[in-house]
Amino acid sequence: MRQRAGLALWLALLLPACAVRPEAAVSSRFALFVLGTAQDGGMPHLGCDRQCCSEARRTGRTLHPASLGVVDRESGALLLIEATPRIEEQLALFHRLAGTTGRGRQPVDAVLLTHAHIGHYLGLALFGREVAASRGVATHCSQRMAAFLTANGPWKQLVELGQLALHPFAPGVAIEPLPGLLVLTFSVPHRDEFSDTMAYVLVGPRRRVLFVPDVDAWDRAPGLLQQLMHGVDVAYIDGTFYDGRELPERDLAEIRHPLMTDTMARLETTAAAKGGCVRFLHCNHTNPVLHDEVLRAAIERRGFGLAQLGEGVEL
Ligand SMILES: [Zn+2]
Ligand SMILES: [Zn+2]
Repeated sequence: MRQRAGLALWLALLLPACAVRPEAAVSSRFALFVLGTAQDGGMPHLGCDRQCCSEARRTGRTLHPASLGVVDRESGALLLIEATPRIEEQLALFHRLAGTTGRGRQPVDAVLLTHAHIGHYLGLALFGREVAASRGVATHCSQRMAAFLTANGPWKQLVELGQLALHPFAPGVAIEPLPGLLVLTFSVPHRDEFSDTMAYVLVGPRRRVLFVPDVDAWDRAPGLLQQLMHGVDVAYIDGTFYDGRELPERDLAEIRHPLMTDTMARLETTAAAKGGCVRFLHCNHTNPVLHDEVLRAAIERRGFGLAQLGEGVEL
């Protein structure tokens, strides 16, 4: 019964604007769900008293940090991509969308991480002894990220107690975080204080999905966007800032993320963008696309979209 409710909810949330629609009656072995769409701090954002967040507090509107989940429908195995500070709510949603029940202390089988900034990995702490006390959650990350987790508390305690089982990879090497699910790994430029930063292309039997939530502006890495987009059906891309208007006090040249306006200009003529399959996430609480319906509609008219919580892609 619970499982049917999960399936119905999932069908209702199938990627709304993307032309690469899954055929209604056919489902692939792997399904991907969006579990969060905002920048590291989510929304409301701690420390923000501006209208973006005071309004969100007043209305109860909540956005979780960017995260994806993949379920293998054959085995029931679950992969979480990014462990955010909102991991409990996000995994509850993931279980509902995937029709999973009774996971207990093993809420997922595997985790895949892009980098060591707080919105992307702090949730790992909740697999530890104070909370879930999980056993051997397969944690896939770059070698540098694995070295950081192994050397620094509280993460190293999770590794020593076997709550996380690290699976480090060399950037550029393809990995298989769930049996049968190939993931291509790409090193991307970003503020790399504690780890390097990865982007991923998930290769399912039917579709390829790009996930690049955090990256420096495209002109800092010529050719990178084209490389990441190669052969991709659906792209979830860094949409931290729209056009810089949300940061009036900052010089545009100081904003390290690619602006959404720049990404759209670069991708406007590509097949993926024409099909509505370039979808922005990791949006900052101040990003006007989260607050301005007219602006959002204009973006959608150009063929782009904002990732929505719970939307799904058949891989
Ligand atoms: Zn705010
Ligand atoms: Zn980051």
